[in-house]
Amino acid sequence: MAPTNLLGLDLAGLEGFFTEIGEKPFRARQLLQWIHQYRVVNFEDMTNLSKTLRQTLSEKATLSLPEVLHEYISVDGTRKWVMRLSCGNAIEAVYIPEGDRGTLCVSSQVGCALACTFCSTGAQGFNRNLEASEIIGQLWLANKYLGKDPKGRRVVTNVVMMGMGEPLANYNNVIAAMNLMRDDLAYGISWRRVTLSTAGMVPMIDKLREDCHVSLAVSLHAANDKLRDEIIPLNKKYPIAVLLDACKRYVEGHQRRHITIEYVLLAGINDSEKDARDLMRILKDLPTKINLIPFNPFPGTNYTCSSKKVIARFKQQLLDGGCIATVRKTRGDDIVAACGQLAGEVQDKTRRTQSINKTEAIPA
Ligand code: SAH
Repeated sequence: MAPTNLLGLDLAGLEGFFTEIGEKPFRARQLLQWIHQYRVVNFEDMTNLSKTLRQTLSEKATLSLPEVLHEYISVDGTRKWVMRLSCGNAIEAVYIPEGDRGTLCVSSQVGCALACTFCSTGAQGFNRNLEASEIIGQLWLANKYLGKDPKGRRVVTNVVMMGMGEPLANYNNVIAAMNLMRDDLAYGISWRRVTLSTAGMVPMIDKLREDCHVSLAVSLHAANDKLRDEIIPLNKKYPIAVLLDACKRYVEGHQRRHITIEYVLLAGINDSEKDARDLMRILKDLPTKINLIPFNPFPGTNYTCSSKKVIARFKQQLLDGGCIATVRKTRGDDIVAACGQLAGEVQDKTRRTQSINKTEAIPA
């Protein structure tokens, strides 16, 4: 049997692992702390485990992380890490500091299958889902690179599943990773500070509501189905009304007070006064915070970003209509780390194309 990578197992997963190897499940709690709090990846150094157990672990388990290929640091303090996976592909994670908050933007897939027309990850196509260890590994590595603040606290206070990929299309691995983010024995981040962003995979939104308590952001980007069908092909399957109903179910009966609505502003496409009015109309029965995202261009795109004046007008119209609306600051664009710019730059693109073809050729 191949050794199990313990990095991606949440409490329940680790308890299952220990039971399977004939050990007491409480060992799981010790392992979580060693791996995620003390960042120890050598079983030999886990000194409160018996020598025999450490020996067993080194035979039956591993603790392997993605390898950081490059670290880029923006003039605004944003940092991006390009990480190489064991399969040779690369993914990206981005850290965005702001005041006393530090947000890590985490990837969930290599590429993305949704093919939203305004997103560079979408243009790259889909390669594979990330393992839970590769998702939580991004947070593990960010903590390692960033160290602690002068008061000894971790600087990553928030996580957004807004990097490459559609997190709800890699459900089980994303849930395991988010359980670890939230677990006090691992990272202990409050559910309010863990946000999953989706383009609208409705059945999975309902499932998430049952399985893992986190904040939800929805990439709406259009106020009518005609346009949304065009820019987010997934809309043909789950149109706006169906998606917004799922959002209502998500907030109902829970402490979750609102849904974040993401709305990328594309010049001449979705940024008119009528678009703003339509947006307010369709959102009127849902508690939301609207986050307007200036479009970040990438090579080959035909879209352009709405002007500053139009963005300000759009936002003001929403505020005047009683909505909560903010404009997302573009961060890290000098290191190509802004929203929709993450493409897991791979040095050898041919190889990537080949490996995509290879994955497609092998039936799952
Ligand atoms: N698949 C998920 C999460 C990934 S992207 C989702 O769709 O929500 C995170 C956010 O960045 C999404 O709202 C996405 O629509 C937006 N985005 C994608 N490309 C962008 C671009 N070029 N400029 C600005 N925002 C973009």
